[in-house]
Amino acid sequence: MADERVKRISEKIGTYPDFPKPGIVFRDIFSVLADPSVFQDLLAVLEEQIRAVCPDVEIIVGLESRGFLFGTPLALALGVPFVPVRKKGKLPGELKQVLYTLEYGTDVFEAQAKCIKLGQKVVIVDDLLATGGSMKAACDLVTSIGGTVSLCLVCIELEDLKGRETLDKPFKAIVKF
Ligand code: AMP
Repeated sequence: MADERVKRISEKIGTYPDFPKPGIVFRDIFSVLADPSVFQDLLAVLEEQIRAVCPDVEIIVGLESRGFLFGTPLALALGVPFVPVRKKGKLPGELKQVLYTLEYGTDVFEAQAKCIKLGQKVVIVDDLLATGGSMKAACDLVTSIGGTVSLCLVCIELEDLKGRETLDKPFKAIVKF
């Protein structure tokens, strides 16, 4: 049952108070990957969410770097291309960029412009939604290339930070803290 799997996933997520700096409670998804059967549960639940909300998905976009861990196997399972969104300076070729705001300063996300065609239905995947800044920037980037963001999907949502309120696209999270 889905709830049993979500419970197992939730119990596996590592929790590290005051990492990487005081006041941050770090939620560690790598402890899920360390258990193949729970990792399999997580991939299955993520895939079910995509099939339920966007059965005709055409592209999976993964955010650097932990979004790659889930985006690539999901793209394979769904039989659609995987497209990475990376920090500035890491991708070759013709790129589109978006500038976004961090707690201190700004950063730039990039994607290869030709990887998404006009109107293609895109699901964006990451490990965790905190303030929502990264996911919002990825939505803006995909939209600027011409893709349609059908779903923003994360393993973990930090509900107190209200990141989902920054998104104007469908959003799903598997585990909420
Ligand atoms: P945000 O843009 O604030 O939603 O932050 C989301 C990104 O930062 C994700 O790619 C996460 O990997 C990472 N992140 C932010 N806060 C945490 C946290 N408490 N634990 C683990 N990763 C985090």
